Amino acid sequence: LLQLAMPLNFLGTVYREIKQSLIDLETMFKLLTSDAEVTDKPDAPALALDGGAVTFENVSFGYDPRRPILKDVSFSVKAGDTVAIVGPSGAGKSTISRILFRFYDVLEGSVKIDGQDIRAVTQDSLRGAIGIVPQDTVLFNDTVGYNVHYGRPGASEAEMVEAARLARIHDFVEGLPDGYATTVGERGLKLSGGEKQRVAIARTILKRPEILLFDEATSALDTKTEREIQASLREVSRDRTTLVIAHRLSTVVEADEILVLEQGRIVERGRHESLLSQKGVYAQMWARQQAASSDDEAEPATADNA
Ligand code: ADP
Ligand code: MG
Repeated sequence: LLQLAMPLNFLGTVYREIKQSLIDLETMFKLLTSDAEVTDKPDAPALALDGGAVTFENVSFGYDPRRPILKDVSFSVKAGDTVAIVGPSGAGKSTISRILFRFYDVLEGSVKIDGQDIRAVTQDSLRGAIGIVPQDTVLFNDTVGYNVHYGRPGASEAEMVEAARLARIHDFVEGLPDGYATTVGERGLKLSGGEKQRVAIARTILKRPEILLFDEATSALDTKTEREIQASLREVSRDRTTLVIAHRLSTVVEADEILVLEQGRIVERGRHESLLSQKGVYAQMWARQQAASSDDEAEPATADNA
């Protein structure tokens, strides 16, 4: 039984990693799906960026059309603004980010960037415009340097190191026997969840995309590192359109708008103070986290990987 269980368990892990890891899904998708539903229209133009405003209009979606996951979701992020999405695990938060990256097409409604339906432009140009720090990062079986450089292959060594510094991973890498030439991944050095996340953050900082998508980007970090990186992320996302999916509400206080998602529907929306005064779902979540945060101040957060 054990012999059977092990590979199944392994496959489950691989499946989950593939499912959840957006950056590598980009590559995996090309490899694994011969009948991918998402295709470029013939002669599709490249996305013409103009600040990177994002609009979801009455979006409905389900991985299986018989089981709706997102229900009539509408919101917009003005160019340069930050919108946060919060809500319980399984609410559909990560699904929103997968749809924006166009791993899946919506069943109803539309998603637009700077007025252009994302189904009408090339996937390459769309994905080039968006930088994602996913919930679980799968690194390439290659050097740390390669993994960071992947964000913008044309970047100089100095720019790569600067990105690693901002993501608070530089000192760690310097301490490795081969520095940036150290191989990571399952055939190399195993990095912790927090270290992998910081590599993914460095990659995105280097990419400098018009639109940033953080999916619980700092969930695997301890509170101190999280605070440090939050400062860097704030720096990077200044003047960039940013969508933050947040686990800890402390990271969304300054957002221009907060969307509370429950079972695929936006049930509350507004800025932090106005949501608190509504004394609804958000206010309850906030109160619960305030009570809990005094206990787990020094503890690494448990990422919800749902
Ligand atoms: P959240 O990020 O808010 O925790 P998700 O967007 O990851 O939620 O998931 C929303 C729902 O969609 C969950 O019920 C989840 O099980 C389901 N789901 C997520 N990914 C897939 C998938 N690839 N295939 C089928 N169902 C999925
Ligand atoms: Mg999620």
